[in-house]
Amino acid sequence: MAAPAPRPGILDIAPYIGGESSAPGVNRLIRLASNEGAHGPSPHAVAAYTRDAEAIHRYPDGGATRLRTALGRKWGLDAQRIVVGCGSDELIGLLCRAYAGPGDEVLHSAHGFLMYPIAAHTVGATPMAAPEHDLTTDVDAILAQVTDRTRIVFLANPNNPTGSYLPAAEMARLHAGLPGDVLLVIDAAYAEYVDRPDYEPGIALVEAHDNVVMTRTFSKIYALGGLRLGWAYCPAAIADVLNRVRGPFNVGAPALAAGLAALEDHDFVAMSQRHNDTWRAWFSAQVTALGLRAYPSVTNFVLIGFPGSGDAPDRGARAAEAARQFLKRHGILVRQMGAYGLADCLRVTIGREDEMRAVVEVLGRFLAEPS
Ligand SMILES: *Cc1c(COP(=O)(O)O)cnc(C)c1O
Repeated sequence: MAAPAPRPGILDIAPYIGGESSAPGVNRLIRLASNEGAHGPSPHAVAAYTRDAEAIHRYPDGGATRLRTALGRKWGLDAQRIVVGCGSDELIGLLCRAYAGPGDEVLHSAHGFLMYPIAAHTVGATPMAAPEHDLTTDVDAILAQVTDRTRIVFLANPNNPTGSYLPAAEMARLHAGLPGDVLLVIDAAYAEYVDRPDYEPGIALVEAHDNVVMTRTFSKIYALGGLRLGWAYCPAAIADVLNRVRGPFNVGAPALAAGLAALEDHDFVAMSQRHNDTWRAWFSAQVTALGLRAYPSVTNFVLIGFPGSGDAPDRGARAAEAARQFLKRHGILVRQMGAYGLADCLRVTIGREDEMRAVVEVLGRFLAEPS
């Protein structure tokens, strides 16, 4: 019997497996699997969301004018070239829809964010992965993979799930090596956590060139993942394209209101940055002292490597999965990394102090058990 068939590429998508959010039989749950922000949302964001509740029969401002104006003011950007999306995931998908299709290649780094290959498959394009060097993006490896079919290069900077970043000079070198008709998308979801003098989130490249887009999110330091709010800073022509392909009311009014309030709560953001600096350093040191590898991170998570060995290469993967299950039985959820090709690693979000102490304590118990 005939049945509707999806377009080529759709069934190549490996369904996205998010961080777990529940563990049966556990009374206190510590959720460190989705990088959601340690302290919950700003109280001002919650108040703005609640205040808007009685007006949800009204369509939102489809132009997101107040939020774009505030973003422009905060970051010194032309608000006309900001496009707001239902999470930056939507913007990643729209960029693929507008700029890539069957026969085209969409390039990302080997351990890059999984939404890039998913979004590429969605439009029938072929995702291509460039190898990394010690879990850090390798500019030369990306440039070596560019062909005349390459339409988009996606790069998270800093990267999820590795936590590493490329300095501004490397990003400029990457851009300089790309043909002008290839779109470079810099996904700066974790930019607010980075405190390095040689880091630049991508604004300078967007300002200087016609083929660079920067995406940002309210899901991480602003801790509004449940609302779905992100934005892109674009060259004028690309902003025009995104505004044509997006839904006219792609972001809900409560999300716009909460995002605006979160953006203006500078104390909350500063507190979150300080907390993250302190506890990321503490956690990395503790994990190292336990004999595991804490990959250097500039984000609100740490990738932890479990040792393998030459004669038993999957030992690290088995240890990582056993540790994850052990943590889960103790009510602690962290992220499995198999889908990222890093099965011997776990990714742990920086949570509150008591949560980080609990992870270290339970991991220590796991490692002390005879295996
Ligand atoms: C979390 C994350 C995002 C954010 O996605 P939203 O759709 O805005 O929630 C984007 N890119 C990367 C690399 C991320 O880790």
